[in-house]
Amino acid sequence: MHNVDLAIIGGGTAGISAGLRALEMGLSAVILERGQEIGGAAGIRLSGGAFHLALGDMRLDHDPMLAHVNKVTNQEIAPAIAEMIANRSKSSIAWLQKQGVDLVPQGNEFGYVTIHPRGPSVPGRGFNRKAAPDKAMRTWHFRFVEQGGAIYYGARAKSLKAAPQGKGWIVVASSPEPEGLRVQAQSVILADGGFQANPKLLEKYLGPRAGKSALRAMTTASGDGLMMALEQGGYVAGEGRGVYGHILHRNAITDENFLPYPMFDALCLTSPVVDAKGKLFEHGAKDGPELTYKMLMSSDPAGYTIIMDNATWMGPAANGGGYHPAVNPAIEQKGGRVDSAPTIAEVARKAGMGEKELTAAVERHNATAKAKLGSGPYYAVPIAAGVTFTFPGIAVNDKAEVLRKGGGAIPGLYAAGCATGGIHGRSGGGGYLGGLGIALITGMLAAEGAAARKKA
Ligand SMILES: Cc1cc2nc3c(=O)[nH]c(=O)nc-3n(C[C@H](O)[C@H](O)[C@H](O)COP(=O)(O)OP(=O)(O)OC[C@H]3O[C@@H](n4cnc5c(N)ncnc54)[C@H](O)[C@@H]3O)c2cc1C
Repeated sequence: MHNVDLAIIGGGTAGISAGLRALEMGLSAVILERGQEIGGAAGIRLSGGAFHLALGDMRLDHDPMLAHVNKVTNQEIAPAIAEMIANRSKSSIAWLQKQGVDLVPQGNEFGYVTIHPRGPSVPGRGFNRKAAPDKAMRTWHFRFVEQGGAIYYGARAKSLKAAPQGKGWIVVASSPEPEGLRVQAQSVILADGGFQANPKLLEKYLGPRAGKSALRAMTTASGDGLMMALEQGGYVAGEGRGVYGHILHRNAITDENFLPYPMFDALCLTSPVVDAKGKLFEHGAKDGPELTYKMLMSSDPAGYTIIMDNATWMGPAANGGGYHPAVNPAIEQKGGRVDSAPTIAEVARKAGMGEKELTAAVERHNATAKAKLGSGPYYAVPIAAGVTFTFPGIAVNDKAEVLRKGGGAIPGLYAAGCATGGIHGRSGGGGYLGGLGIALITGMLAAEGAAARKKA
């Protein structure tokens, strides 16, 4: 049995931020990481490494940051949490820079920072080992161990129980050792990345068919932390808020070569999206994550098809923006289905839809949408909602303490990163604050809570 001040379940951005901060504050700490290798199965290893809040620069001062977060979340998140985020973003980024990463600003209205130099993502759940986000996570794991922390790989935390005589917690994890790995700790941080890889939990907390979607993330996010929190009296916050996700080719459900890119988000906002029969999906979504959520909540999250005219196929569909691969030709190169024909009736037949339905869908789209479907040939591509992470998750307060259903916080139990719920707003027209930024802030916050607990 290991005896430490802090046990952290999950060595992703939230877990390693917590771990490094905990060591800095004089705690002894252990990270249990389900992934088998240095760097674990952390989501940042697949990512472009953009640290932002509400798609804004985390180096903003308190007042503009608070205004920005409130605007993007439509003030739906708890005011104390919005305040905490605004208070801590700038200092968290400054701290991150001290962890040996080069952060460079990128432009949009508010700008944001990315770990430099990021590289193109590789298809599937493989890591681009030359890219800075992947290197950063491996470096942080090394640093944690060099500074006295311990990381166990291939250690999936399975149970969390209160230790006898109020002496914190006992975490049991699977490990190559037959008796498993047992850690006793005064405080525990649940930082396992959430439950998006668990279809049953998606159906329970998102929508009855949500489990039929594509997983646009690592497969390790099974919701173990959530189950532990619920068992200890915690609850789920953020139900009805949706997900952060994107629209992928339907093959992404069964073939990881089709994720995480190319994405169909922008194309789906201008070209008609139809259901399996060819009926127009009048989604009214303003962005990709909102459309992802609407598809997820429908009766068939993987049953839609986008119809593109020739100008779209040869234009926006062939332009991935330089950084991400374009739909055309990547989908066909990967062997994904694309039906094309000179007329709508023919493309309907090829794609297995009703001719009448698809013709009516195009007429309806052209009568109501700003961008009309122009001349053929037409392209029909099957798509699916792809979930990166969920906005519902473990309910926490502005100290990252896990909240008890009956009121108050559970002493010594914290949650951070994508394991938490209710921190992001509603998906659609905003709401998404940023996965990495929130993981960094809440991970550090939870570690500081554990340090204060030790001192008390
Ligand atoms: C393609 C892609 C691009 C992205 N780009 C960006 C971006 O540019 N900017 C941004 O802000 N966000 C981005 N994201 C989202 C971002 O990666 C996540 O929000 C972030 O990594 C979440 O960090 P986390 O620490 O909460 O979870 P994770 O990084 O998922 O870490 C959780 C860890 O817990 C481990 N684990 C799970 N269960 C257990 C268990 N029972 N016991 C022990 N360990 C366990 C897992 O193996 C994993 O290593 C992107 C995601 C994807 C997929």
